[in-house]
Amino acid sequence: MSSSDLRRARARMLSTVLDCRGSLMGVTDGVSSAPARTVAVDAVLDSLSASQLADLRRANRTSTLAGRPHFRCPACHEPVYPAVGSVAASGVLGGERAYFKHHAKQTGTPDCPLARERSTSVDAVDAHRFGGLQEGAWHAWAKQSLGELCVAEPGVGAVFEETRLSRSEAWRQPDLIVQHQLGTVALEIQRASPQLDVVLGREGFYAPLGIGLMWIVDAEEPHRLERQGFQDAILPHGGVVHGWSPMAARRSVTDRRLHLHRLTLAERDDHFLVDDELVPFSDAVAEVMKQLARNSWPLAEDASARAFRMALLSGDQDAQQAAFERLRAELRLAATWDDACDDRLSAAVGATVTALTGAKGIASRFPANAPAVAIINNFVGTKSYRAWIPLLLQACEGHADADARLAHPSTARLISEALSEAATDLTHAVQVRQRWGTLFQRMFLAARRNT
Ligand SMILES: [Zn+2]
Repeated sequence: MSSSDLRRARARMLSTVLDCRGSLMGVTDGVSSAPARTVAVDAVLDSLSASQLADLRRANRTSTLAGRPHFRCPACHEPVYPAVGSVAASGVLGGERAYFKHHAKQTGTPDCPLARERSTSVDAVDAHRFGGLQEGAWHAWAKQSLGELCVAEPGVGAVFEETRLSRSEAWRQPDLIVQHQLGTVALEIQRASPQLDVVLGREGFYAPLGIGLMWIVDAEEPHRLERQGFQDAILPHGGVVHGWSPMAARRSVTDRRLHLHRLTLAERDDHFLVDDELVPFSDAVAEVMKQLARNSWPLAEDASARAFRMALLSGDQDAQQAAFERLRAELRLAATWDDACDDRLSAAVGATVTALTGAKGIASRFPANAPAVAIINNFVGTKSYRAWIPLLLQACEGHADADARLAHPSTARLISEALSEAATDLTHAVQVRQRWGTLFQRMFLAARRNT
């Protein structure tokens, strides 16, 4: 037994978890979802690459915050999450260094074996290790030098230092906000590995504001990108992150153009490679804005669109008709509410909302916390909805989260079956597109174009 096997055996005190993701293969009746299965932790984690592990951690955290955790403790049924040992200590990059753990504040029942486990997460170690003076000095230098260079940079309109941004109840104070002609970006100078919640919180805050999130890491310490928080932040986005260094600062001053490091973290067998190149700031902004477009909030948020969505969720037919009439007048649609009822427009909009956001889009038999895949499969697997599939796919195209949902094996199979038989109701599909293409454009695609 190697030392990493030993470490793993000790870390995985509990060898099984409840997997609540649900297989849902072939679900078409709309209500059944596979019950949670007890699965071997080794089977869930061992085969994951570093990138897949980051995706798993992210998906689990998001679903847990939404009240439907992917994994639960088999003993006490409290949510658990995939925690990790460090890459350096375990000598492996992917899922073999992970194990399941209770959240610190939810320790389960007293007799729960997982709750007694007291290993320190690698994230907490990082935060502690780099919380000192050195961190503060580098951070201050990076913010000041980047701020000065941004102000002098062609294409930059305005630079704000530590300005407080508010959205709904939440607020953030990024190190720098830079208004560039290619888009507005928030620079978050981050030398220590961030916590997953910080990563998700920042992404979720800036995206609906149409602001690109640009992490600035210490390019002289690329090995730090191996830390889990950086993996969580950058692997799901193609492994690319931007960095700063005294060398880049000198080069930027000499060239009178701001240059950043573009660092790419990639898995190679049993180690990470970090590719490092200097790129003009405008290229970095362009890259971040492109990423934002792929992940931006996909629903129109004006009063008319919102009223229609709220009416769908309430199940109130009169409210649906009223909201529909308002959209119909705005868009000068020929099709009437009777046409909408015949074509089952409400169900189609609801299912598209679910594909794009993962949440319920319309009042239905599904419980509030139903998995998105069950709702989507119910729609794409029902014959009378087939004519809508092309519009649904168009609304979701290029949106990272929606692409991932539609790529679920059971969903992809139902869609491909439906499309291969679409010839039989081609007339209906053409009619649906003619009647409702504009409305779909307005409810979904317009939201992403405008951000
Ligand atoms: Zn437990």
